[in-house]
Amino acid sequence: MGRPARAADLKVKQEIPIPARTGAGLRMAAGEFVQVLDVSGQQCADFFAFSAADPTEHLSASHTRVAVDRLFPEVSQSFFSSLRRPMFQFEEDRSPGIHDMLFAACDPARYAHYGVDGHASCADNLRTAAGKLGLELCHVPQPVNFFMNVAVRLDGRCDFGSPQTNPGDFVLLKAFVDCFVVVSACPQEWNPAGNYHPSDLLARVLVAS
Ligand SMILES: [Zn+2]
Repeated sequence: MGRPARAADLKVKQEIPIPARTGAGLRMAAGEFVQVLDVSGQQCADFFAFSAADPTEHLSASHTRVAVDRLFPEVSQSFFSSLRRPMFQFEEDRSPGIHDMLFAACDPARYAHYGVDGHASCADNLRTAAGKLGLELCHVPQPVNFFMNVAVRLDGRCDFGSPQTNPGDFVLLKAFVDCFVVVSACPQEWNPAGNYHPSDLLARVLVAS
């Protein structure tokens, strides 16, 4: 596999701002890289991906956990699809290295529990961004939640804290297949997911220079 790639050695092909509480989609080819940056820090990024050849095959946190024997991702591992095929390689992590692969995306039902109707959600951000990419989704896959701070205790309970990221922290992934990616700047302000203050993300498609 060779040495992991570094964003600093790559060239920016496309830059996609993701304002707080919204999502954005992009299309990338096999061999290209996607960089997800936490602009101001303490913001989690729900990351979804779908195979361009067959969008019913999607990035799957649960299949990734089985494939890598880990609950949370680390550099040099792959992320796997719902058909157990590698979709991305985790190339670089310029963050404290705390990411989640356990929690479902927030959705309108989640906010209804807080007594809030009409609240933005990662599920709705995914549907909107996917629609702009021409994708029709029949369900919302469980995302990989970059920068989200979840810890599992020995008794099985989960501790849920604020992201530990600083401004400009990022992750870098390389695609194994042509795919569609959607990144949602989680609009959750009712629990520590975004330290009670949703903020901006930035996505970049990078290529070898
Ligand atoms: Zn969310």
